[in-house]
Amino acid sequence: MSTPLLKVQNLKKYFDITGGILGRKQGEVKAVDDVSFSVQRGEVLGLVGESGCGKSTTGRSILRLIEPTSGNIYFEGEDITKLREEEMRQKRRDMQIVFQDPYASLNPRHTVEKIMMEPLIVHGIGNKKERQEKVHHLLEVVGLSSYHAKRYPHQFSGGQRQRIGIARALAVNPKLIIADEPVSALDVSIQSQVLNLMQDLKKEYQLTYLFIAHDLSVVKHISDRVGVMYLGRLVELAAKEKMYEDPKHPYTQALLSAVPVADPDYKRERILLTGDLPSPSNPPAGCAFHTRCSACMEICKTTRPLFRELSEGHFVACHLYE
Ligand code: SF4
Repeated sequence: MSTPLLKVQNLKKYFDITGGILGRKQGEVKAVDDVSFSVQRGEVLGLVGESGCGKSTTGRSILRLIEPTSGNIYFEGEDITKLREEEMRQKRRDMQIVFQDPYASLNPRHTVEKIMMEPLIVHGIGNKKERQEKVHHLLEVVGLSSYHAKRYPHQFSGGQRQRIGIARALAVNPKLIIADEPVSALDVSIQSQVLNLMQDLKKEYQLTYLFIAHDLSVVKHISDRVGVMYLGRLVELAAKEKMYEDPKHPYTQALLSAVPVADPDYKRERILLTGDLPSPSNPPAGCAFHTRCSACMEICKTTRPLFRELSEGHFVACHLYE
């Protein structure tokens, strides 16, 4: 197999918990705890899990918007974990991010033109006229109009703002886009429009996506493979068809049971997850999912299951399959 565009190896991101008058370290939150996966060129990998599972921290650590605690990130075969700040800034031309909340990520005091020109200026792309032309062109590419360039973010709807966020990411011709819950803040009717746009842009611009979402239904159509995270770890990873037709991990099965199916004759039994997501600062021993798992066995309470390949390309961390 060719070198993956992105390879994440044993990625960890721990946050210190400090307290007391002296602000001493009292513990740590293992937001991302030993996560490994790769994304091939042109592929869409969906990364799914409940809020707090570490999926967004994974995305930001890959771009080193937050520094990983340990692990390696390879982009086009090059280890980018050790790159100096300036080298990493250059590298981000190839690796862009689209944020969940487009309003928070667009400076409200700047016009759309100024917002979109910024990455072009940072990376020294084109002169003023060329930048302006590029911005106008990209606005049309994402379904807006060139006259929108002079408007401010508050003058747009949520869906339009996300289109602007996508256009800004596209401006520097990236190879990889990390889409961090790009449609979660949008109405359901608008979600599919933005997803369709992202799918069209992927083909047109030969993009690769790491698509982060909290819901398996959102990533279903766009993804080639899907990874499911729970409390900072990957618990299952498989090609989309396998994941949706034959999920192995009880957590994936529960998430999937909540996804609506189009066929009215097909009744899927809803598996309700009981209890809240445990705190990542104090995760349960053994399998982190054991406090909520209806298939929990004695071994699950003490021994952490390994993330193993069950069949070709289908990985799962669960004692049921050992
Ligand atoms: Fe459930 Fe045990 Fe599998 Fe964890 S290892 S998901 S507790 S059966």
